[in-house]
Amino acid sequence: MDKTFYIETFGCQMNAHDSEKVIGTLLHQGYAQVDTPEAAHYVFYNTCSIRDKAEQKVFNRLQQFKRDAGKGKVFAVIGCVAQQEGEKIFEKAPHVSLVAGSASYTKLPQMLVQLEAGSRRVTGLSLDTGEAFDTPFTRRDNPHRAYLTIIEGCDKSCAYCVVPFTRGPERSRTSSSVMAEAQGLAGAGYTEIQLLGQNVNSYRDPSPAGWNFATLLDRVGQIPGIRRVRFTTSHPRDFGKEIIDAIDSNPVLCDHVHLPVQSGSTRVLQSMQRLYTRDEYMRRIEWIKNARRKIAITTDIIAGFPGETGKDFEATLALLDEVQYDSLFAFKYSPRPNTAALAMEDQVPEEEKTRRIVTLNERQRAIQIRRNSQLIGEVQQVHVEGRNRALGQWIGRTSQNRTLNFVHDGDADAALAGAYLDVRVTRAGPNSLVGESVANARPVSVM
Ligand code: SAM
Ligand code: SF4
Repeated sequence: MDKTFYIETFGCQMNAHDSEKVIGTLLHQGYAQVDTPEAAHYVFYNTCSIRDKAEQKVFNRLQQFKRDAGKGKVFAVIGCVAQQEGEKIFEKAPHVSLVAGSASYTKLPQMLVQLEAGSRRVTGLSLDTGEAFDTPFTRRDNPHRAYLTIIEGCDKSCAYCVVPFTRGPERSRTSSSVMAEAQGLAGAGYTEIQLLGQNVNSYRDPSPAGWNFATLLDRVGQIPGIRRVRFTTSHPRDFGKEIIDAIDSNPVLCDHVHLPVQSGSTRVLQSMQRLYTRDEYMRRIEWIKNARRKIAITTDIIAGFPGETGKDFEATLALLDEVQYDSLFAFKYSPRPNTAALAMEDQVPEEEKTRRIVTLNERQRAIQIRRNSQLIGEVQQVHVEGRNRALGQWIGRTSQNRTLNFVHDGDADAALAGAYLDVRVTRAGPNSLVGESVANARPVSVM
């Protein structure tokens, strides 16, 4: 029996990490991963449906294999599009044999048995699960930096968002299972951990220990061998000051908070059902700015939400000026199935959404050029991610999550990836920095 598989992943870090768990599970079941769909018997697409464009990608891929190329192959659509579209995928793409959402991945081994037995319509679509997909078989690609899920699903109901429908209700893992995984990662040589969840700060330990997110964050940051801890994503409503206190008192916790605002207009925030006002959001920004260390702040913005007027949009631009974000992701509003915003009046025309996105990105670019230039001359510690051979530079990441590419004398072939090095910033662009490692610096550690 041909047990080769190929997997392509679309979307966010949660999906990237889900794929690591799916790959680990498949390898444990005796399957072998290959690099191309052509070479594989089983072709998996781990999909994203956050915006229409992301959703269309999987159907384009499936279309490519509709005819002869797909003969004899078994196609599996998993993740958010699978959960959202369900059995309709079998109609749109009859050559698909498995449709499963992330809440069903714990049943993957049973679903594989069905596929192997020749079933052509296997589904895993129940959202009625109390479990998180907590598997010991995760296959991580990066040997230094690891994702670790602490909470799955979402109990909010933002008017534009499919996540509550595609990932189901919130399920927090027990603190003991998170700590065991984090300690295992440290033991295996990982030095950086990124805690993941749609809303990490809604984390509530279901065990009697009852830790909140700030406690969990701090404890993970106290594990010997762990040198950096990041987390994403934070919802402003649940973002408590104790998170900043934890960062202040534990230098292992990175100097970066991603705090998606979505809009600078309280009227639009209300219509989005975001559960905070602009002023309440700004209070969180003040906490972050008043921290002892300089903490980078990044955000997500949706342009052209139904009913967003020119004045609302101006309020978002003014917010960028006020906060001075270190980076942002700006998205055109994309109408999504099942969401409240779908039926809202005053949809913003596509050209106007595009104009607003361009304006946002231009405004932010100027802010980033200014902010990054202020770092010239500073020495920052980077975690080395790899080497850009064409440029003869190493690629590093600062605690504030900036890319800092640098030269390091006489080391063209040295294995610096995974090391922590001090680097002086010599140049700045809007999206990255360039520097040189501090004279005579030696890797603090190379794992
Ligand atoms: N849980 C996070 C929060 O509350 O901010 C966001 C998670 S969501 C996967 C990532 C980002 O996608 C959101 O912050 C939002 O900006 C964007 N997004 C979600 N739904 C969208 C839609 N229908 N159209 C455009 N952007 C969307
Ligand atoms: Fe989507 Fe809102 Fe939940 Fe974030 S909090 S995942 S934007 S519903």
